[in-house]
Amino acid sequence: MSAERESAVVATVPRRLLIGGAWRDAAGGATFGVEDPSTGRELTRVADASPADGLAALDAAVAAQPGWAATAPRERGEILRRAYELLMARQDDLALLMTLEMGKPLAEARGEIAYAAEFFRWFAEEAVRIDGGYAVAPDGRSRFLVMRQPVGPCLLITPWNFPMAMGTRKIGPAIAAGCTMVMKPADLTPLSMLALADILRAAGLPAGVLNVVPTTSAGAVMEPLIRDGRARKLSFTGSTQVGRILLQQAASTVLRTSMELGGNAPFLVFADSDLDAAVDAAMLAKMRNIGEACTAANRFYVQREVATEFAERLAKRMAALRVGRGTETDSEVGPLISAGARNKVAGLVDDAVGRGGRVLVGGGPLPGAGYFFAPTVLTDVPAEARLSTEEIFGPVAPITPFDDEDQAVALANSTEFGLVSYLFTRDIDRALRVSERLEAGMVGLNAGIVSNPAAPFGGVKQSGLGREGGRVGIEEYLEVKYVAIPASW
Ligand code: NAP
Repeated sequence: MSAERESAVVATVPRRLLIGGAWRDAAGGATFGVEDPSTGRELTRVADASPADGLAALDAAVAAQPGWAATAPRERGEILRRAYELLMARQDDLALLMTLEMGKPLAEARGEIAYAAEFFRWFAEEAVRIDGGYAVAPDGRSRFLVMRQPVGPCLLITPWNFPMAMGTRKIGPAIAAGCTMVMKPADLTPLSMLALADILRAAGLPAGVLNVVPTTSAGAVMEPLIRDGRARKLSFTGSTQVGRILLQQAASTVLRTSMELGGNAPFLVFADSDLDAAVDAAMLAKMRNIGEACTAANRFYVQREVATEFAERLAKRMAALRVGRGTETDSEVGPLISAGARNKVAGLVDDAVGRGGRVLVGGGPLPGAGYFFAPTVLTDVPAEARLSTEEIFGPVAPITPFDDEDQAVALANSTEFGLVSYLFTRDIDRALRVSERLEAGMVGLNAGIVSNPAAPFGGVKQSGLGREGGRVGIEEYLEVKYVAIPASW
Protein backbone atom coordinates (compact mmCIF):
# COMPACT_ATOMS: atom_id res chain seq x y z
CA MET A 1 0.00 0.00 0.00
CA SER A 2 1.61 3.30 -1.03
CA ALA A 3 1.94 6.15 1.46
CA GLU A 4 0.33 8.44 -1.14
CA ARG A 5 -2.80 6.28 -1.31
CA GLU A 6 -3.01 6.17 2.49
CA SER A 7 -2.72 9.97 2.76
CA ALA A 8 -5.24 10.46 -0.04
CA VAL A 9 -7.85 8.32 1.73
CA VAL A 10 -7.39 10.19 5.01
CA ALA A 11 -7.61 13.52 3.16
CA THR A 12 -11.09 12.69 1.81
CA VAL A 13 -12.60 12.63 5.32
CA PRO A 14 -14.18 15.81 6.77
CA ARG A 15 -12.23 16.18 10.00
CA ARG A 16 -14.56 18.61 11.74
CA LEU A 17 -17.71 18.49 13.84
CA LEU A 18 -21.03 17.89 12.09
CA ILE A 19 -23.66 20.09 13.74
CA GLY A 20 -26.99 21.10 12.22
CA GLY A 21 -25.93 19.88 8.78
CA ALA A 22 -22.71 21.94 8.62
CA TRP A 23 -19.11 20.90 9.16
CA ARG A 24 -17.67 23.20 11.82
CA ASP A 25 -14.46 23.72 13.73
CA ALA A 26 -14.55 23.12 17.46
CA ALA A 27 -14.96 26.13 19.74
CA GLY A 28 -11.55 27.80 19.96
CA GLY A 29 -10.27 25.69 17.04
CA ALA A 30 -9.13 22.80 19.26
CA THR A 31 -7.97 19.61 17.51
CA PHE A 32 -6.55 16.25 18.49
CA GLY A 33 -4.30 13.75 16.72
CA VAL A 34 -5.39 10.36 15.38
CA GLU A 35 -2.65 7.73 15.46
CA ASP A 36 -1.88 4.71 13.30
CA PRO A 37 -1.38 1.95 15.91
CA SER A 38 0.85 -0.02 13.56
CA THR A 39 3.45 2.75 13.48
CA GLY A 40 2.60 5.04 16.40
CA ARG A 41 2.60 7.96 13.95
CA GLU A 42 -0.07 10.67 13.74
CA LEU A 43 -2.33 10.21 10.69
CA THR A 44 -4.17 13.50 10.90
CA ARG A 45 -5.89 15.87 13.31
CA VAL A 46 -9.62 16.14 14.05
CA ALA A 47 -11.73 18.89 15.65
CA ASP A 48 -11.98 18.35 19.42
CA ALA A 49 -15.52 19.18 20.61
CA SER A 50 -16.00 21.16 23.83
CA PRO A 51 -19.02 20.94 26.14
CA ALA A 52 -20.42 24.02 24.33
CA ASP A 53 -20.11 22.17 21.00
CA GLY A 54 -21.89 19.19 22.55
CA LEU A 55 -24.79 21.41 23.61
CA ALA A 56 -24.96 22.95 20.13
CA ALA A 57 -25.21 19.42 18.73
CA LEU A 58 -28.07 18.59 21.10
CA ASP A 59 -29.80 21.87 20.18
CA ALA A 60 -29.58 20.85 16.51
CA ALA A 61 -30.92 17.35 17.20
CA VAL A 62 -33.82 18.73 19.27
CA ALA A 63 -34.68 21.30 16.57
CA ALA A 64 -34.66 18.66 13.82
CA GLN A 65 -36.75 16.10 15.74
CA PRO A 66 -40.35 17.15 14.90
CA GLY A 67 -39.72 17.47 11.16
CA TRP A 68 -37.78 14.22 11.03
CA ALA A 69 -40.44 12.29 12.96
CA ALA A 70 -43.00 13.50 10.42
CA THR A 71 -40.97 12.23 7.44
CA ALA A 72 -42.57 9.34 5.55
CA PRO A 73 -41.17 5.96 6.62
CA ARG A 74 -40.46 5.09 3.01
CA GLU A 75 -38.32 8.21 2.67
CA ARG A 76 -36.32 7.28 5.79
CA GLY A 77 -35.89 3.77 4.41
CA GLU A 78 -34.71 5.06 1.03
CA ILE A 79 -32.04 7.23 2.69
CA LEU A 80 -30.74 4.17 4.53
CA ARG A 81 -30.83 2.12 1.36
CA ARG A 82 -28.85 4.78 -0.56
CA ALA A 83 -26.33 4.96 2.28
CA TYR A 84 -25.99 1.15 2.13
CA GLU A 85 -25.22 1.36 -1.60
CA LEU A 86 -22.69 4.16 -1.09
CA LEU A 87 -20.93 2.28 1.71
CA MET A 88 -20.55 -0.79 -0.48
CA ALA A 89 -19.43 1.29 -3.48
CA ARG A 90 -16.69 2.82 -1.31
CA GLN A 91 -15.85 -0.35 0.61
CA ASP A 92 -12.16 -0.41 -0.36
CA ASP A 93 -11.40 3.19 0.63
CA LEU A 94 -13.41 2.95 3.84
CA ALA A 95 -11.67 -0.30 4.76
CA LEU A 96 -8.26 1.30 4.27
CA LEU A 97 -9.30 4.26 6.41
CA MET A 98 -10.43 1.91 9.18
CA THR A 99 -7.25 -0.15 9.02
CA LEU A 100 -5.16 3.00 9.27
CA GLU A 101 -6.86 4.31 12.40
CA MET A 102 -7.71 1.01 14.13
CA GLY A 103 -5.12 -1.49 12.92
CA LYS A 104 -7.22 -4.50 11.86
CA PRO A 105 -6.10 -6.29 8.66
CA LEU A 106 -7.64 -4.94 5.45
CA ALA A 107 -9.67 -8.12 4.81
CA GLU A 108 -11.31 -7.74 8.22
CA ALA A 109 -11.90 -4.03 7.67
CA ARG A 110 -13.63 -4.83 4.37
CA GLY A 111 -15.73 -7.35 6.28
CA GLU A 112 -16.68 -4.74 8.85
CA ILE A 113 -17.75 -2.25 6.16
CA ALA A 114 -20.05 -4.92 4.66
CA TYR A 115 -21.37 -5.85 8.13
CA ALA A 116 -21.91 -2.18 8.99
CA ALA A 117 -23.70 -1.53 5.68
CA GLU A 118 -26.00 -4.51 6.27
CA PHE A 119 -27.50 -2.73 9.30
CA PHE A 120 -28.58 0.06 6.96
CA ARG A 121 -30.08 -2.41 4.48
CA TRP A 122 -31.88 -4.27 7.27
CA PHE A 123 -33.29 -1.14 8.91
CA ALA A 124 -34.21 0.35 5.50
CA GLU A 125 -36.55 -2.63 5.29
CA GLU A 126 -37.77 -2.25 8.88
CA ALA A 127 -38.60 1.48 8.53
CA VAL A 128 -41.79 0.66 6.63
CA ARG A 129 -42.88 -2.14 9.00
CA ILE A 130 -43.46 -0.07 12.15
CA ASP A 131 -47.00 -0.96 13.14
CA GLY A 132 -49.42 -0.65 16.04
CA GLY A 133 -52.56 -2.35 17.31
CA TYR A 134 -56.29 -2.11 17.82
CA ALA A 135 -58.17 -4.19 20.39
CA VAL A 136 -61.53 -4.50 22.07
CA ALA A 137 -61.32 -4.26 25.87
CA PRO A 138 -62.22 -7.49 27.68
CA ASP A 139 -65.49 -5.95 28.96
CA GLY A 140 -66.33 -4.68 25.46
CA ARG A 141 -66.88 -1.13 26.71
CA SER A 142 -63.83 0.50 25.20
CA ARG A 143 -61.28 0.17 22.46
CA PHE A 144 -57.49 0.29 22.67
CA LEU A 145 -55.42 1.95 20.00
CA VAL A 146 -51.69 1.27 20.32
CA MET A 147 -49.23 3.37 18.36
CA ARG A 148 -45.42 3.27 18.18
CA GLN A 149 -43.68 6.60 17.87
CA PRO A 150 -40.03 7.70 17.67
CA VAL A 151 -38.44 8.00 21.12
CA GLY A 152 -36.98 11.42 20.29
CA PRO A 153 -33.42 12.83 20.26
CA CYS A 154 -30.86 10.12 21.03
CA LEU A 155 -27.34 10.25 22.47
CA LEU A 156 -25.11 7.61 20.90
CA ILE A 157 -21.64 6.65 22.16
CA THR A 158 -19.46 4.09 20.34
CA PRO A 159 -16.12 2.33 20.98
CA TRP A 160 -12.97 2.10 18.84
CA ASN A 161 -12.90 -1.65 18.16
CA PHE A 162 -15.59 -1.68 15.42
CA PRO A 163 -15.51 2.02 14.49
CA MET A 164 -18.19 1.78 11.79
CA ALA A 165 -20.45 -1.19 12.65
CA MET A 166 -21.04 -0.12 16.24
CA GLY A 167 -22.29 3.16 14.76
CA THR A 168 -24.57 1.81 12.03
CA ARG A 169 -26.13 -0.62 14.55
CA LYS A 170 -27.48 2.47 16.36
CA ILE A 171 -27.84 5.02 13.56
CA GLY A 172 -29.72 2.56 11.29
CA PRO A 173 -32.63 1.90 13.65
CA ALA A 174 -32.68 5.52 14.89
CA ILE A 175 -33.10 6.78 11.31
CA ALA A 176 -35.68 4.09 10.53
CA ALA A 177 -37.70 4.98 13.65
CA GLY A 178 -37.56 8.76 13.03
CA CYS A 179 -35.14 9.80 15.79
CA THR A 180 -32.47 12.50 15.62
CA MET A 181 -29.02 11.92 17.12
CA VAL A 182 -25.88 13.25 18.74
CA MET A 183 -23.12 10.72 18.05
CA LYS A 184 -19.84 10.65 19.95
CA PRO A 185 -17.32 8.23 18.42
CA ALA A 186 -14.23 7.02 20.31
CA ASP A 187 -11.38 9.52 20.13
CA LEU A 188 -8.99 6.75 19.02
CA THR A 189 -11.00 6.12 15.81
CA PRO A 190 -13.15 9.11 14.80
CA LEU A 191 -12.37 8.99 11.06
CA SER A 192 -14.64 6.07 10.11
CA MET A 193 -17.61 7.74 11.82
CA LEU A 194 -16.90 11.10 10.13
CA ALA A 195 -16.72 9.33 6.75
CA LEU A 196 -20.01 7.59 7.55
CA ALA A 197 -21.68 10.88 8.44
CA ASP A 198 -20.53 12.32 5.11
CA ILE A 199 -22.05 9.33 3.29
CA LEU A 200 -25.37 9.81 5.08
CA ARG A 201 -25.40 13.46 4.01
CA ALA A 202 -24.76 12.38 0.43
CA ALA A 203 -27.62 9.87 0.79
CA GLY A 204 -29.99 12.73 1.62
CA LEU A 205 -30.17 12.72 5.43
CA PRO A 206 -31.58 16.14 6.39
CA ALA A 207 -29.55 18.66 8.40
CA GLY A 208 -29.57 18.14 12.17
CA VAL A 209 -30.75 14.52 12.11
CA LEU A 210 -27.22 13.20 12.75
CA ASN A 211 -24.75 15.39 14.63
CA VAL A 212 -21.22 14.11 15.26
CA VAL A 213 -18.94 15.38 18.02
CA PRO A 214 -15.53 13.71 18.26
CA THR A 215 -13.84 14.80 21.49
CA THR A 216 -11.04 13.97 23.88
CA SER A 217 -13.30 15.04 26.77
CA ALA A 218 -15.96 12.32 26.56
CA GLY A 219 -17.25 12.73 30.10
CA ALA A 220 -17.26 16.54 30.12
CA VAL A 221 -19.08 16.71 26.77
CA MET A 222 -21.62 13.91 27.29
CA GLU A 223 -22.60 14.23 30.95
CA PRO A 224 -24.36 17.61 30.49
CA LEU A 225 -26.27 16.17 27.52
CA ILE A 226 -27.32 13.11 29.53
CA ARG A 227 -28.51 15.33 32.39
CA ASP A 228 -30.06 17.98 30.09
CA GLY A 229 -33.52 16.44 29.94
CA ARG A 230 -34.16 17.06 26.23
CA ALA A 231 -32.52 13.87 24.99
CA ARG A 232 -34.85 10.87 25.32
CA LYS A 233 -32.49 7.98 24.83
CA LEU A 234 -28.89 6.98 25.49
CA SER A 235 -27.40 4.09 23.53
CA PHE A 236 -23.90 3.13 24.58
CA THR A 237 -21.45 0.50 23.40
CA GLY A 238 -18.29 0.19 25.45
CA SER A 239 -16.90 -1.12 28.69
CA THR A 240 -19.04 -2.19 31.63
CA GLN A 241 -17.06 0.22 33.80
CA VAL A 242 -18.11 3.27 31.75
CA GLY A 243 -21.61 1.82 31.26
CA ARG A 244 -22.14 1.84 35.04
CA ILE A 245 -21.18 5.55 35.21
CA LEU A 246 -23.54 6.42 32.36
CA LEU A 247 -26.42 4.49 33.95
CA GLN A 248 -25.98 6.54 37.13
CA GLN A 249 -26.03 9.77 35.12
CA ALA A 250 -29.05 8.60 33.12
CA ALA A 251 -30.94 7.99 36.35
CA SER A 252 -31.03 11.75 36.96
CA THR A 253 -33.43 12.27 34.05
CA VAL A 254 -34.80 8.69 33.91
CA LEU A 255 -33.29 8.51 30.45
CA ARG A 256 -34.10 5.39 28.50
CA THR A 257 -30.90 3.39 27.91
CA SER A 258 -29.45 0.63 25.77
CA MET A 259 -26.14 -0.74 27.01
CA GLU A 260 -23.87 -3.00 24.95
CA LEU A 261 -21.08 -3.69 27.40
CA GLY A 262 -18.10 -5.93 28.00
CA GLY A 263 -17.87 -9.69 27.66
CA ASN A 264 -15.88 -12.62 29.06
CA ALA A 265 -16.99 -15.34 26.67
CA PRO A 266 -16.44 -18.99 27.58
CA PHE A 267 -15.72 -21.44 24.73
CA LEU A 268 -16.78 -24.97 25.74
CA VAL A 269 -15.47 -27.97 23.82
CA PHE A 270 -16.96 -31.36 24.76
CA ALA A 271 -15.10 -34.55 23.93
CA ASP A 272 -17.77 -35.54 21.40
CA SER A 273 -17.12 -32.39 19.31
CA ASP A 274 -15.89 -32.30 15.76
CA LEU A 275 -12.44 -31.11 16.82
CA ASP A 276 -11.49 -29.75 13.39
CA ALA A 277 -14.59 -27.56 13.39
CA ALA A 278 -13.98 -26.54 17.01
CA VAL A 279 -10.41 -25.42 16.27
CA ASP A 280 -11.53 -23.49 13.15
CA ALA A 281 -14.23 -21.77 15.18
CA ALA A 282 -11.84 -21.11 18.06
CA MET A 283 -9.56 -19.23 15.67
CA LEU A 284 -12.49 -17.08 14.55
CA ALA A 285 -13.90 -16.51 18.02
CA LYS A 286 -10.47 -15.65 19.43
CA MET A 287 -8.67 -13.88 16.62
CA ARG A 288 -11.38 -11.89 14.84
CA ASN A 289 -10.43 -8.24 15.29
CA ILE A 290 -7.05 -9.22 16.86
CA GLY A 291 -8.99 -10.48 19.88
CA GLU A 292 -10.31 -6.95 20.47
CA ALA A 293 -14.00 -7.87 20.32
CA CYS A 294 -16.65 -7.98 23.03
CA THR A 295 -17.59 -11.38 21.59
CA ALA A 296 -14.00 -12.69 21.70
CA ALA A 297 -13.58 -16.11 23.30
CA ASN A 298 -11.87 -15.22 26.57
CA ARG A 299 -11.74 -18.59 28.35
CA PHE A 300 -11.42 -21.97 26.63
CA TYR A 301 -12.81 -24.89 28.67
CA VAL A 302 -12.06 -28.24 27.03
CA GLN A 303 -13.13 -31.70 28.25
CA ARG A 304 -10.07 -33.43 29.69
CA GLU A 305 -9.99 -36.31 27.14
CA VAL A 306 -9.36 -33.88 24.26
CA ALA A 307 -7.79 -30.91 26.07
CA THR A 308 -4.17 -31.64 25.13
CA GLU A 309 -4.97 -32.33 21.50
CA PHE A 310 -7.13 -29.20 21.24
CA ALA A 311 -4.40 -27.04 22.83
CA GLU A 312 -1.70 -28.41 20.53
CA ARG A 313 -3.81 -27.90 17.42
CA LEU A 314 -4.78 -24.37 18.44
CA ALA A 315 -1.16 -23.49 19.28
CA LYS A 316 -0.05 -24.70 15.84
CA ARG A 317 -2.64 -22.54 14.10
CA MET A 318 -1.83 -19.51 16.25
CA ALA A 319 1.92 -19.90 15.62
CA ALA A 320 1.31 -19.92 11.86
CA LEU A 321 -0.54 -16.57 11.82
CA ARG A 322 1.19 -13.73 9.98
CA VAL A 323 1.46 -10.67 12.22
CA GLY A 324 1.95 -7.36 10.47
CA ARG A 325 0.65 -3.95 9.57
CA GLY A 326 -2.99 -4.33 8.52
CA THR A 327 -2.33 -2.63 5.18
CA GLU A 328 0.03 -5.45 4.12
CA THR A 329 -1.95 -7.86 1.99
CA ASP A 330 -0.79 -11.00 3.81
CA SER A 331 -1.28 -9.64 7.35
CA GLU A 332 -3.65 -11.73 9.48
CA VAL A 333 -3.04 -10.08 12.86
CA GLY A 334 -2.64 -6.32 13.22
CA PRO A 335 -1.44 -4.27 16.20
CA LEU A 336 -3.37 -3.66 19.39
CA ILE A 337 -4.98 -0.25 19.59
CA SER A 338 -2.49 1.47 21.90
CA ALA A 339 0.58 1.06 24.07
CA GLY A 340 -1.71 0.97 27.10
CA ALA A 341 -3.78 -1.86 25.62
CA ARG A 342 -0.64 -3.83 24.82
CA ASN A 343 0.72 -3.34 28.36
CA LYS A 344 -2.60 -4.51 29.81
CA VAL A 345 -2.55 -7.74 27.78
CA ALA A 346 1.11 -8.34 28.70
CA GLY A 347 0.23 -7.82 32.37
CA LEU A 348 -2.56 -10.42 32.16
CA VAL A 349 -0.23 -12.99 30.58
CA ASP A 350 2.53 -12.31 33.14
CA ASP A 351 0.01 -12.68 35.97
CA ALA A 352 -1.16 -16.07 34.60
CA VAL A 353 2.42 -17.32 34.13
CA GLY A 354 3.29 -16.13 37.65
CA ARG A 355 0.46 -18.31 38.96
CA GLY A 356 1.62 -21.43 37.12
CA GLY A 357 0.21 -20.93 33.60
CA ARG A 358 2.28 -22.52 30.80
CA VAL A 359 2.96 -20.71 27.50
CA LEU A 360 2.55 -23.01 24.46
CA VAL A 361 3.14 -20.28 21.90
CA GLY A 362 3.70 -16.50 21.91
CA GLY A 363 3.63 -14.92 25.33
CA GLY A 364 4.46 -11.24 24.90
CA PRO A 365 4.71 -8.02 22.88
CA LEU A 366 6.68 -8.05 19.63
CA PRO A 367 9.67 -5.72 19.21
CA GLY A 368 9.68 -2.78 16.79
CA ALA A 369 7.29 0.02 15.94
CA GLY A 370 3.56 -0.31 16.61
CA TYR A 371 1.69 -2.17 19.34
CA PHE A 372 1.98 -5.76 18.13
CA PHE A 373 1.46 -8.73 20.45
CA ALA A 374 2.32 -12.34 19.59
CA PRO A 375 -0.66 -14.73 19.21
CA THR A 376 -0.51 -16.65 22.48
CA VAL A 377 -1.85 -19.94 23.85
CA LEU A 378 -1.61 -20.75 27.56
CA THR A 379 -2.53 -23.89 29.47
CA ASP A 380 -2.79 -24.72 33.19
CA VAL A 381 -4.21 -21.26 33.88
CA PRO A 382 -5.64 -21.31 37.41
CA ALA A 383 -9.16 -19.98 38.08
CA GLU A 384 -7.79 -17.14 40.21
CA ALA A 385 -5.66 -15.73 37.37
CA ARG A 386 -6.84 -12.33 36.13
CA LEU A 387 -7.11 -13.84 32.62
CA SER A 388 -10.08 -15.89 33.87
CA THR A 389 -12.08 -12.94 35.15
CA GLU A 390 -11.04 -9.91 33.06
CA GLU A 391 -11.78 -9.16 29.42
CA ILE A 392 -8.44 -9.84 27.65
CA PHE A 393 -9.02 -7.80 24.46
CA GLY A 394 -5.99 -9.29 22.75
CA PRO A 395 -4.72 -12.41 20.92
CA VAL A 396 -4.39 -14.62 24.00
CA ALA A 397 -6.15 -17.98 24.46
CA PRO A 398 -6.06 -19.54 27.96
CA ILE A 399 -7.12 -23.22 28.02
CA THR A 400 -8.45 -25.05 31.10
CA PRO A 401 -9.65 -28.67 31.20
CA PHE A 402 -13.00 -29.76 32.68
CA ASP A 403 -14.37 -33.17 33.61
CA ASP A 404 -18.15 -33.10 33.22
CA GLU A 405 -21.07 -31.03 31.99
CA ASP A 406 -21.99 -29.55 35.37
CA GLN A 407 -18.45 -28.36 35.93
CA ALA A 408 -18.29 -26.89 32.41
CA VAL A 409 -21.52 -24.94 32.90
CA ALA A 410 -20.43 -23.73 36.35
CA LEU A 411 -17.08 -22.51 34.99
CA ALA A 412 -18.76 -20.82 32.01
CA ASN A 413 -21.25 -18.98 34.23
CA SER A 414 -18.74 -17.99 36.92
CA THR A 415 -18.48 -14.39 35.72
CA GLU A 416 -20.37 -11.12 36.14
CA PHE A 417 -20.55 -10.93 32.32
CA GLY A 418 -23.10 -12.64 30.06
CA LEU A 419 -22.69 -11.54 26.45
CA VAL A 420 -21.96 -14.68 24.45
CA SER A 421 -20.96 -18.29 25.11
CA TYR A 422 -19.63 -20.76 22.57
CA LEU A 423 -20.54 -24.43 22.80
CA PHE A 424 -19.13 -27.35 20.82
CA THR A 425 -20.78 -30.77 20.94
CA ARG A 426 -22.36 -33.24 18.52
CA ASP A 427 -24.92 -34.43 21.08
CA ILE A 428 -28.22 -32.68 20.30
CA ASP A 429 -29.63 -33.18 23.81
CA ARG A 430 -26.54 -31.72 25.40
CA ALA A 431 -26.50 -28.86 22.86
CA LEU A 432 -29.99 -27.74 23.85
CA ARG A 433 -29.62 -28.51 27.57
CA VAL A 434 -26.35 -26.56 27.92
CA SER A 435 -27.60 -23.70 25.69
CA GLU A 436 -30.51 -23.26 28.12
CA ARG A 437 -28.21 -23.30 31.16
CA LEU A 438 -25.64 -20.80 29.85
CA GLU A 439 -26.10 -17.32 31.31
CA ALA A 440 -25.55 -15.36 28.11
CA GLY A 441 -27.55 -13.22 25.71
CA MET A 442 -26.18 -15.25 22.78
CA VAL A 443 -24.85 -18.77 22.24
CA GLY A 444 -22.64 -19.86 19.36
CA LEU A 445 -23.62 -23.52 18.95
CA ASN A 446 -20.85 -25.17 16.95
CA ALA A 447 -20.24 -21.64 15.60
CA GLY A 448 -17.37 -19.21 16.15
CA ILE A 449 -19.27 -16.07 15.10
CA VAL A 450 -22.73 -15.02 16.22
CA SER A 451 -22.99 -11.44 14.91
CA ASN A 452 -25.60 -10.89 12.21
CA PRO A 453 -27.55 -7.67 11.51
CA ALA A 454 -30.77 -9.68 11.24
CA ALA A 455 -30.34 -11.29 14.69
CA PRO A 456 -30.81 -9.74 18.17
CA PHE A 457 -27.36 -8.94 19.60
CA GLY A 458 -26.92 -8.20 23.30
CA GLY A 459 -26.04 -9.45 26.74
CA VAL A 460 -27.41 -10.36 30.14
CA LYS A 461 -25.91 -9.75 33.59
CA GLN A 462 -23.33 -6.95 33.46
CA SER A 463 -22.90 -7.27 29.69
CA GLY A 464 -25.79 -4.97 29.05
CA LEU A 465 -29.40 -3.98 28.58
CA GLY A 466 -31.38 -4.17 25.35
CA ARG A 467 -30.70 -5.67 21.94
CA GLU A 468 -29.31 -4.33 18.68
CA GLY A 469 -30.19 -5.70 15.24
CA GLY A 470 -32.90 -8.15 14.28
CA ARG A 471 -36.63 -7.46 14.49
CA VAL A 472 -36.27 -6.08 18.02
CA GLY A 473 -33.44 -3.65 17.17
CA ILE A 474 -35.84 -0.89 16.15
CA GLU A 475 -37.89 -1.25 19.35
CA GLU A 476 -35.07 0.44 21.26
CA TYR A 477 -35.93 3.63 19.34
CA LEU A 478 -39.72 3.46 19.58
CA GLU A 479 -42.13 4.40 22.37
CA VAL A 480 -45.46 2.66 22.76
CA LYS A 481 -48.45 4.96 23.24
CA TYR A 482 -51.87 3.60 24.14
CA VAL A 483 -55.01 5.60 23.35
CA ALA A 484 -58.16 4.65 25.32
CA ILE A 485 -61.39 5.05 23.35
CA PRO A 486 -64.78 4.59 25.05
CA ALA A 487 -67.21 2.70 22.83
CA SER A 488 -70.49 4.59 22.61
CA TRP A 489 -72.06 2.14 20.22
P1 NAP B 1 -14.85 2.54 26.78
O1 NAP B 1 -13.57 2.99 27.34
O2 NAP B 1 -15.96 2.21 27.68
O3 NAP B 1 -15.29 3.66 25.73
C1 NAP B 1 -16.44 3.52 24.93
C2 NAP B 1 -16.92 4.89 24.52
O4 NAP B 1 -17.32 5.61 25.69
C3 NAP B 1 -15.85 5.75 23.85
O5 NAP B 1 -16.47 6.55 22.86
C4 NAP B 1 -15.35 6.60 24.99
O6 NAP B 1 -14.80 7.82 24.58
C5 NAP B 1 -16.64 6.85 25.73
N1 NAP B 1 -16.47 7.24 27.13
C6 NAP B 1 -15.50 6.90 27.98
N2 NAP B 1 -15.73 7.48 29.20
C7 NAP B 1 -16.90 8.18 29.08
C8 NAP B 1 -17.67 8.97 29.97
N3 NAP B 1 -17.30 9.17 31.23
N4 NAP B 1 -18.79 9.55 29.51
C9 NAP B 1 -19.19 9.36 28.24
N5 NAP B 1 -18.50 8.62 27.34
C10 NAP B 1 -17.37 8.02 27.76
O7 NAP B 1 -14.64 1.24 25.87
P2 NAP B 1 -13.62 1.03 24.69
O8 NAP B 1 -12.29 0.73 25.26
O9 NAP B 1 -13.72 2.12 23.67
O10 NAP B 1 -14.25 -0.27 24.00
C11 NAP B 1 -13.99 -1.53 24.45
C12 NAP B 1 -15.13 -2.04 25.32
O11 NAP B 1 -16.33 -2.01 24.57
C13 NAP B 1 -14.95 -3.48 25.72
O12 NAP B 1 -15.32 -3.65 27.06
C14 NAP B 1 -15.91 -4.23 24.80
O13 NAP B 1 -16.36 -5.47 25.32
C15 NAP B 1 -17.02 -3.26 24.68
N6 NAP B 1 -17.82 -3.53 23.49
C16 NAP B 1 -19.06 -4.06 23.66
C17 NAP B 1 -19.83 -4.37 22.55
C18 NAP B 1 -21.19 -4.96 22.70
O14 NAP B 1 -21.93 -4.95 21.73
N7 NAP B 1 -21.56 -5.49 23.85
C19 NAP B 1 -19.33 -4.12 21.27
C20 NAP B 1 -18.06 -3.58 21.14
C21 NAP B 1 -17.31 -3.28 22.27
P3 NAP B 1 -13.21 7.99 24.33
O15 NAP B 1 -12.73 6.69 23.78
O16 NAP B 1 -13.14 9.08 23.36
O17 NAP B 1 -12.64 8.30 25.65
